[in-house]
Amino acid sequence: MLNELTKTESSDAEVAASPGMLIVVSSPSGGGKGTLIDRVLKTVPGVSFSVSYTTRAPRATEQNGREYFFVDRPMFEKLIEGGEFLEWADVYGHLYGTSATQVETERRAGHDIILEIDVQGAESIRKKVSDAVSVFILPPSFELLRARLLARGTDSAADLEMRLRGAPSEVEQYKFFHYVILNDDINRASQQLAAVIYAERARCERQESSLRDALEDFGVITEPGAVATVSEPGAVAGSDG
Ligand code: 5GP
Repeated sequence: MLNELTKTESSDAEVAASPGMLIVVSSPSGGGKGTLIDRVLKTVPGVSFSVSYTTRAPRATEQNGREYFFVDRPMFEKLIEGGEFLEWADVYGHLYGTSATQVETERRAGHDIILEIDVQGAESIRKKVSDAVSVFILPPSFELLRARLLARGTDSAADLEMRLRGAPSEVEQYKFFHYVILNDDINRASQQLAAVIYAERARCERQESSLRDALEDFGVITEPGAVATVSEPGAVAGSDG
């Protein structure tokens, strides 16, 4: 269950040595991102899940504090005024927001954190958090998206129509994400999402502190911010050794 899944593996020393990554995962509503994320939370150590606030009413199976923190509109507005949100958006008539405190706490502790948010939220995060990683989950067809939303059986006919009508413009945004994963096979797609997280963890610039001992052992002196990025291979650790 998500309750357990939000717990992170603080014993993973390699991950804890550097600030955690912020990973944005978006798709049209019903695109299957929830299932993919659940799989990744179960299989990849050191990843937590950002529990958003929403003004939407809980569905039958949802629990406060697990899928969302369910609040009324005045409370949500208070949270906006108090600067509690890293981003927030109106999605199909309800307000949804990401807790800045939760994200900061997790990242500072070295845990990667997944934000399951819509394309508007993804755009806000891209503007605010330069090192965020973004992944778009693409359903294989419009018909399958409709079938999934119908099978879920959680939305009124009007809600379902609204979500389906919005899907094409959401899909159009895929090109602004770092990665796109076709969700035609849950096993392959969840492995691909896990692979993205592992590959991003291996980027040089994300491992400055965890690599320091090994590099210094070779006489390579590392200054903060000096570890090369892919685009600047010449900038590898100022070395006089
Ligand atoms: P649902 O009502 O189906 O749970 O979510 C509707 C949409 O809102 C989904 O695309 C979901 O990813 C998105 N969403 C959930 N939490 C947040 C959030 O904190 N911020 C934003 N911008 N979107 C969110």
